[in-house]
Amino acid sequence: MNKRYSVFCRMTSVAALLLALLSGLSSPLISDERAEAEKTLGVVYADGRQTEDIPLLGLEEDSEELFISGYNLARVFKASRHWNPGARKLILSISGHRFMFTLDTRVVIVDDQPVLMRVPVRYSEGLVMIPIEFISAILASSTIEEIDLDEETLILTIGSPEYNVTGITFTDDEVWSKAVLDLTEELLYHVDSETPGLLRVKIYGGRLNTLKFSVTAGKGLFNKTRAEQTEHDAYLFFDVKKTAARFRVEFFDDAEGGGSARKLVIFLEKTKLPEIPDPDFAGMKMTEILDAETIRGNRILKIAIDPGHGGVDKGKVSSSGIYEKDVNLDYSILLSERLVEEFGVEVVMTRTDDILVPLSRRAEIANSEDADLFISIHCNGWFHQDASGFETFFLAPARSEDDLRLAREENASIQFENPELKPEELDELDFILWDIVQNEFISESSELAELIQKEMSNRLSIRNRGVKQAGLLVLRGLKMPAVLVEIAFLSNPEEEILVQDPLFRARVIEGIVNAVRRFQEKYTETVSMTR
Ligand SMILES: [Zn+2]
Repeated sequence: MNKRYSVFCRMTSVAALLLALLSGLSSPLISDERAEAEKTLGVVYADGRQTEDIPLLGLEEDSEELFISGYNLARVFKASRHWNPGARKLILSISGHRFMFTLDTRVVIVDDQPVLMRVPVRYSEGLVMIPIEFISAILASSTIEEIDLDEETLILTIGSPEYNVTGITFTDDEVWSKAVLDLTEELLYHVDSETPGLLRVKIYGGRLNTLKFSVTAGKGLFNKTRAEQTEHDAYLFFDVKKTAARFRVEFFDDAEGGGSARKLVIFLEKTKLPEIPDPDFAGMKMTEILDAETIRGNRILKIAIDPGHGGVDKGKVSSSGIYEKDVNLDYSILLSERLVEEFGVEVVMTRTDDILVPLSRRAEIANSEDADLFISIHCNGWFHQDASGFETFFLAPARSEDDLRLAREENASIQFENPELKPEELDELDFILWDIVQNEFISESSELAELIQKEMSNRLSIRNRGVKQAGLLVLRGLKMPAVLVEIAFLSNPEEEILVQDPLFRARVIEGIVNAVRRFQEKYTETVSMTR
């Protein structure tokens, strides 16, 4: 009886130990840990992983030393872990090196070599806690990856990110409050002022340190700023005072003194609060001050619709044998009918039948007809069935491998016109495209693309892949704002069925129609504001 009891007793202690171990080495205790945390370590990854805040603990009464849990340390550095409870040792393997920690000792064994830290490793509330000194003093010198720990700001940068948006400063005078962004190259941008009190600046292909750009106190009309980094683009969200009524964004390239200072400046114009109280004032969104040359002013009278592919060029083919060229034509015809119905505009189609129309001919048709907008309709495809969603492109050099892939595939249509042309030659074309006439319309094209994505995402439940830039041949030489919409993935079995669903089709088309309406409103509204 006694014996059984003791066995039971040992089992519970083993279970308790296991529990402590499990909680120490996995995430459940993170929230408790965070609640007690005095400080956090901001981690920035060069490989594009989401930045994060990791709780740090001060455990030594007579020292400022901060500790990170072994669990978080392993996760951040993608380490494999081994915990030996009997020996009270934690072993982490990071980029081919082995680090062995022993509880309550200052010695770390690095690949069989002992190294001494200022304070010992501790065990606290089920977690093995390692002094952050380990990161800067030991780990940084033994991994191939670049590691930078700023002990002042508590920001840890892993890898060496190639930032092209490098700094932010605020200035303030009688007329303007300015936020000045330093860039290392010219980047395209898009500004959204839909939400009162918030200005969202998207920088296409922008890469920035989100922690550095999240500023809690701006100047003048700028309250605070938040930054976000996505796979493709950088976003800055400026929280602004309600007296900011108008804004302007401008790119400067001052090549003075040999160096080149590229800046993107966000101007907020100061206005007096209305003398007679206006209950709607605070809820008013800011209007954009556009340059005279940006304002077309004309109403949209004619729209060119371009159903992608046709004839021998089938485009993407789904697993059940649906051709992209047919889906494109079907959507384009319905879109043109809706546009005529809605705005009374004239529509020019680059093809209305199943025929091959050369890419350059499509631009010629739209140009010779003096169209005010050009919308090309396509479907996407990929080797994997799970690729999904809708995206909208405007013409600019491709920013990522993925966008280059799409440009290559859509541009491959030219092989049906000119079988001699090799795919490699198409990539070269991609670079030439930058200087062409579409440049003039780049901000309007990106605006239209942003509106189409937004209106479509309001109506569709499939993935919003965002606005992309790519060197698309079909958009080359167009003398009007132009976009290319990829409705969905024909290679995805669910989306293949969706694109044939009349309800889905109606939603896509309503999305585009609404985007055209808002595009028109923006430009005519601006004209009446500034004249
Ligand atoms: Zn296509």
